[in-house]
Amino acid sequence: MVDLVSQYEKIKPAVLPLIEDIMSKAQFINGPEVSAFKNELQDYLGVKHVIPCANGTDALQISLMSLGLKPGDEVITPSFTYIATTEVIALLGLKPIFVEVDPKTFCIDPKALANALTSKTKAIVPVHLYGQSADMESIMNFAKANNLFVVEDNAQAIGSEYIFRSGKKQKTGTIGDIGCTSFFPSKNLGCFGDGGAICTNNDELAEKLKMIANHGQSKKYHHDVVGCNSRLDNLQAGVLRIKLRKLDDYIAARRRAAVAYDNAFQGNPNIDIPYRASNSTHAFHQYTLKLNGVSRDGLNKHLTDKGIPSMIYYPIPAHKQKMFAHFDLECDLPVTDELTHQVISLPMHTELEEDQLNFITEEVKAYINLD
Ligand SMILES: *Cc1c(COP(=O)(O)O)cnc(C)c1O
Repeated sequence: MVDLVSQYEKIKPAVLPLIEDIMSKAQFINGPEVSAFKNELQDYLGVKHVIPCANGTDALQISLMSLGLKPGDEVITPSFTYIATTEVIALLGLKPIFVEVDPKTFCIDPKALANALTSKTKAIVPVHLYGQSADMESIMNFAKANNLFVVEDNAQAIGSEYIFRSGKKQKTGTIGDIGCTSFFPSKNLGCFGDGGAICTNNDELAEKLKMIANHGQSKKYHHDVVGCNSRLDNLQAGVLRIKLRKLDDYIAARRRAAVAYDNAFQGNPNIDIPYRASNSTHAFHQYTLKLNGVSRDGLNKHLTDKGIPSMIYYPIPAHKQKMFAHFDLECDLPVTDELTHQVISLPMHTELEEDQLNFITEEVKAYINLD
């Protein structure tokens, strides 16, 4: 699905001296690379504060911890997402309220928000799934009207831009009160282990987020709130600085691969190619097809037989996971349920060559015409 080895080969001349330098100085935690990366990511995103942390799941957890919510408060989120988005809500004693996604963008359907609203609703966690922004303008308008926080799960879309009706563009993850991202190796900006970051334009929240990520510490040995230990390693930050400079090129390479896939599948009645929302650019963390009247298992098996990986993101929606059974949620999410049976993701990364893309598209088409 990804080719991190070939990508590494190209940045190796920059990475190896960096590792050597960090090792020889034994600057492993809170080193200079972390603060430099923090500043460079702030500039890239156009956001006031970046708080690096240990991974994307921690970023979401720390964000929700900073909002002063009470046990039982409700957080609206899609069910069609990676489990981390929804798990942290329950972990903190909050109640996830799963809402439907848009059948074209696979992101939260803003029309579903009103029905999910109760007197206990405190926040919305939209997910920019597969690399394309949720409809942030509608979500922010709804949130403002109902006094809700918005925490964006930007783990899959770093580098994407949301386009407001006014024409104004803003990077995903910087529009809500807080944005969260992950530097898991396979993400669009991935490090060589775990990493994550939180961003916000709100000074007060930034202070809280920093404190919570560092044992609730306001000054050395003064712990004002219960926090956690969530740090980005100096080494990972150094790697991320090298890769951040290339992020736009990496995204461009993903977009080129997506266009090649699109051209091969366009007009095929059995395949819906990824929808391009007019209000967002697409960072193509995943290239995901929606199949109509084709056996997904059959296609998956055919591709596996030809040595082509394919993945289902995600086969079981959050509202059907056992971990949430005790909430006794009444969920009627037909679009989500249907998508979990229809979607299939093809290899998507920065190193896809034309012959690889041709091979993959020919084999997909060979199966679909057979099926
Ligand atoms: C990867 C991912 C996360 C979690 O990130 P980690 O760094 O693995 O903890 C959260 N949400 C979404 C949508 C993701 O894709």
